[in-house]
Amino acid sequence: MSDTPQYPIESGCPDGFQYLHPVMKKNYGNWDFHERPRPGVLRHVAKSGDEIWTVRFGTQRQLGPYEINLLCDIADKYADGYVHFTIRSNMEFCVSDASKVEPMIAAIEEAGYPIGGTGPSVTMISHTQGWLHCDIPGTDASGVVKALMDELHEDFTNERMPNRVHITTSCCQINCGGQGDIAINVQHTKPPKINHDLVANACERPSVVARCPVAAIRPAMVNGQPSLEIDEKKCICCGACFPPCPPMQINDAEYSKLAIWVGGKHSNARSKPMFHKLVAAGVPNNPPRWPEAAAIVKTILEAYRKDALDWERTGDWVERIGWPRFFELTELPFTKFHIDNWKGARNSLNASTHIRF
Ligand code: SF4
Ligand code: SF4
Repeated sequence: MSDTPQYPIESGCPDGFQYLHPVMKKNYGNWDFHERPRPGVLRHVAKSGDEIWTVRFGTQRQLGPYEINLLCDIADKYADGYVHFTIRSNMEFCVSDASKVEPMIAAIEEAGYPIGGTGPSVTMISHTQGWLHCDIPGTDASGVVKALMDELHEDFTNERMPNRVHITTSCCQINCGGQGDIAINVQHTKPPKINHDLVANACERPSVVARCPVAAIRPAMVNGQPSLEIDEKKCICCGACFPPCPPMQINDAEYSKLAIWVGGKHSNARSKPMFHKLVAAGVPNNPPRWPEAAAIVKTILEAYRKDALDWERTGDWVERIGWPRFFELTELPFTKFHIDNWKGARNSLNASTHIRF
């Protein structure tokens, strides 16, 4: 052991080239064309004549040592030991020997992993899993993903959508998860309940007050102890006060629901990025299979599949047909909650360091 202290290396992400398959490294920037011989398989041909095959498959996203060892053994046997994760956590094995492609596909399928997720398919659903790394989660986002991917298995293994479909889920209402063609996010429908006995010991009250986007939280004395109170008429049930103050419990088995949004910023191919829109609110957060959310997502996908033009992403499709037609085609109820007519942001959003009560 050296006496020299080891300092962390804070120089960003490692050089990706060291992990590339040698054929990819050799032909970097010099590819001629690529094709998809079948869903889940890509064949890239370089100008040098080299070719490389990529087999993409879905996983359960959170891989334990058993799954990682199983998949790495397949990669060692068929894929020259190189693995790659896509931005949506599909796994990819690359091989330059065409004769190894079919045996590799058979080994992956034998291990229980579906091949697909390329081209106009529903690729792996991305999620944030706050229970592992964050402090605001209101649901088990990976459970929603698992249940939905089981329902959408055929849409992952076939390329039968007009264009690719990215679905996202998030475990709270305010942060991650909004970038998909279809997003399934938690929706709290009641203000937090405050455990006044714990606030004084557990929370920095000024941070909690500052956290509220609509200035609905005030300091208050309750039972002779410093605590907080909420103006429930102002509260928009966002859950932002829960991380700095866990005694402001907003997660609720009955009142924390799911909401489904369509047309998020990546959901377009030929138009500008756009905000997604709420299409279903108050959907039961119903583990372990979330059947109500799955039924709505499948209805939207079916309408999109039948009505969109080739290469239209969901956002492009809705832009072309208009939101009224979207609600007609999907037969989702259109309620007052869908109307985005709130004009009060400039006056009432807590956008400065000055708190207004
Ligand atoms: S969605 Fe919310 S709770 Fe989940 S990881 Fe992102 S910020 Fe945390
Ligand atoms: S932070 Fe959100 S949930 Fe908490 S009181 Fe303010 S509006 Fe309500």
